[in-house]
Parts: sequence; structure tokens; C-alpha cells
Amino acid sequence: MKIPILMYHQIDVPPPRGRPLRGLVVSPFSFSWQMKMLKLLGYRGLSMRDLEPYLMGGKSGRVVGITFDDGYRNNLENALPVLKRHGFTATCYGVSGLIGGTNIWDKGVVDEKPLMSLQDWQQWHASGMDVGSHTRSHAKLIELSVKDARAEIFNSKLELEQALGCEVKHFCYPYGWYRPEHAQMVREAGYFTATTTHRGRVHVGDDPHALQRIMVARATNPLQFLMKVATSYEDRHA
Ligand SMILES: [Zn+2]
Repeated sequence: MKIPILMYHQIDVPPPRGRPLRGLVVSPFSFSWQMKMLKLLGYRGLSMRDLEPYLMGGKSGRVVGITFDDGYRNNLENALPVLKRHGFTATCYGVSGLIGGTNIWDKGVVDEKPLMSLQDWQQWHASGMDVGSHTRSHAKLIELSVKDARAEIFNSKLELEQALGCEVKHFCYPYGWYRPEHAQMVREAGYFTATTTHRGRVHVGDDPHALQRIMVARATNPLQFLMKVATSYEDRHA
């Protein structure tokens, strides 16, 4: 049983041609079509929190994980209503030190976009959605000392939990960069899962702190989307 975990970043009108990382902005129309298609095919879209029993083998069914990296406000504006309409849940991985800020880690490279404010995060969570951690500063973990990497991993969890009064049990490695010692820290911090940018669907029993995902990009067309979710299309690249 293979479980696809979808990786999204922004759900918004894509910037003009030629802008860097334009490919990571999926249009609201495409996102809406993708969710509708999952529903029609009998899939349930689930947050990492709700997907966990399936990953551990305790439950089985036609499920798809839905994740958003970075915590853009456009996730709340453009994805949340669609998720709710289909009865789906999703995890959004927030950067705890940049609540209400912008994607400054991309400064000078990518268009600046607002990240969710505290109020936005509260609304996201109150709507039944899951809050995950993406470190305190969108850290390049592999370039940090052990002490600093630990602080990014441990403190982001505490900060998000304190700010929102909810449990934060799921982590996502910024840039997909990590080494085995970081996976160990994530485990020690008490996160149940951690997602990467490695391509492929997840198999029950895979290492929960090194989960593969399926990137959905601006250019992912309907046929590719269906192949990514329902066939071994992505697994071949793993
Ligand atoms: Zn990120």
C-alpha cells in the first residue's frame, strides 16, 4: 500500500514568466481541480496528524497526505476554503520566528509574500487543520552547529505550541536538507514524522522521519497529477 503525500508551497496566481521559483506557485483553479479529482476518485485528503495511523499501519484506506511548506497566507485564503468544502484536512509547516512576517529567507531571489499571522494560524487550526514545524528561521540545518540545529528543531515546536495552544507533532526539513543526526534530533524533540523533498510515495513502515513526498507544481498538468497520485510514476525516481 503506497501513500502519496502531496507537497505544496503557495496557492496563488503565479507571478509573471521568468520569476525564480514561479513553479512553486500553484493556481487556485488548479488546486481546486486537484482536490475535486481526489474526492471523485474516492481519496480522502489528510493532514499528517490524520494520516499518521495509516502510515503506521493501524488504518488502511484510500488516503492522500496534503502538506504546505512555509506557511503562506495564501494557503489560508485560497486552499482552506477548498479543503473544507471537501472535508479534507492538511498540515501547514510554519516558521515559528516569522509568524506574521514574509519569506525573508528567499530575499532578493523570490517575490516577497506574506506569511500567516498569529490570527491566521489560529483560524487555520480552528478549522481542523494541522500545524507543523519548519524550524524557527527556515534554517539550513546542514550548515548549522549541533547546538543551533537543535535550537531550530526543538524551539520551533515549543514556540508554535505556546503561541497556538496546540500540539505540534510533525516536522518538515527546510530545503529538504538534513543529515541523519538531524533526523535523530527531530525524533528526540518528539515529532512523530518529518517530511523531505525526496520524490516518491510512502510505504507503510517507512522511516517516519524521512518521508518522501510528491511535489505539485504550477506546471503539473491534470494527467501528471493523477499519475503522481495513483501510479508508480513518482516512485520510479526514488
Ligand atoms: Zn520551506
